[in-house]
Amino acid sequence: MWNGEIETLCREQMREIQTERLKSVVRRCYEKVPHYREAFDSFGVHPDDIRSLDDLVKLPFTCKNDLRDHYPFDLFAAPKRDIVRVHASSGTTGKPIAVGYTHADIELWAECVARSLACAGVTSDDIIQIAYGYGLFTGGLGLHYGAEKLGATVVPISGGNTKRQVMLMRDFGVTTLACTPSFGAYLAEEMKDSGIPEEDFKLRVGIFGAEPWSQSMRREIESKLNLCAIDIYGLTEILGPGVSCECPYQCGLHVFEDHFLPEIIDPDTEEPLPEGEIGELVFTTLTKEAAPVIRFRTRDLSRLYYEPCACGRTLVRMERILGRTDDMLIIRGVNVFPSQVEAVLLSVGDVDPHYQLIADRSARHMDDLEIRVEMSEALFNDEIRKIEDVEVHIRKEIESTLGISVKVKLVEPKTLPRSEGKAKRVVDRREL
Ligand code: ADP
Ligand code: ZN
Repeated sequence: MWNGEIETLCREQMREIQTERLKSVVRRCYEKVPHYREAFDSFGVHPDDIRSLDDLVKLPFTCKNDLRDHYPFDLFAAPKRDIVRVHASSGTTGKPIAVGYTHADIELWAECVARSLACAGVTSDDIIQIAYGYGLFTGGLGLHYGAEKLGATVVPISGGNTKRQVMLMRDFGVTTLACTPSFGAYLAEEMKDSGIPEEDFKLRVGIFGAEPWSQSMRREIESKLNLCAIDIYGLTEILGPGVSCECPYQCGLHVFEDHFLPEIIDPDTEEPLPEGEIGELVFTTLTKEAAPVIRFRTRDLSRLYYEPCACGRTLVRMERILGRTDDMLIIRGVNVFPSQVEAVLLSVGDVDPHYQLIADRSARHMDDLEIRVEMSEALFNDEIRKIEDVEVHIRKEIESTLGISVKVKLVEPKTLPRSEGKAKRVVDRREL
């Protein structure tokens, strides 16, 4: 473990640390950020009212829109001269948001990523290819500083350029690959096409995150890339990658809760949910200086459990992200997440992990959902009859999982768009 002492603290001691830090971040926000002062005042809550973790519920939530409204720098709690870096979210869902970091924040980030990598089983002997985008996106630089802190050898290749990625992976004897799961799947394809013998690659660990992926996708990537695929989670508003990460037991992501205090709420009533229930993840940053956030609503769905893990860590674990509320399609009143579809597609077989969900509205104002997925090379070379059978089989499986009728279309290998960052799985053509 990178920080064994913290990662194995008993719950009581962890709560003590969190309580002290919570009090201090609440005060800091109230004193330094006009938005928080106004929000607290209008909620009738004052920093003096926060005495224990149970008082957290007295505080107002912060939403993505609050960050947009104060774009770019109005939520900063540190003077401009102390800000050493800014990042912005990829803006997949509208106007970007910007966050700042002080020296101490950058250090904290490197610590959390070093912990994540150590948690994943990466050591200073590893060579890590960082194929997350470098730039305003937090993925590349976030992983970078943490990997250096851990002492691994960093190959800062950034995203794109798949042929070069594959060549360097072989030439440098890369052991650890960090990128989005969809780019991982794309690279696997490119590696196969390169004709380089499998045994020339030395990969053993994959650090995959930044987008939802299913357990079946994990198994697919693990067998194609011949590595242990680890899930890492984070978001720009809270830090970037390194908020939580899995260990090789792959049974939930360990949240670095001495820095990021998680809650699960019912997204409709906004009430906290009991342990183990699925709801929206909410985070309060406990130690960040430049851009602290109080009760940030992530729109990501997950659940929390507090039992210690077989790896020895006592940190609270969050389940892999089940979907994100703004990725969810509502088809004829039924909630559909791309990850549910993905799980079915890959468990049925005969298809590759490249798919899209296309929602449309017919002339009779009915919602239609079409699922396009690439068939495997083997199936493509098989008889039409076989292809039709697989199509029907997939349709039935998806219909029984989702409980709605869908169309399924198997398309030729390598015809759907490939992603070098976050995959775009949903195309919604309905005018809602
Ligand atoms: P954007 O909202 O523009 O995509 P970010 O780059 O900050 O901005 O992305 C953060 C979001 O990415 C998270 O809120 C979550 O929805 C998704 N994400 C990050 N890591 C994971 C992961 N391991 N599994 C599923 N989703 C993830
Ligand atoms: Zn563990």
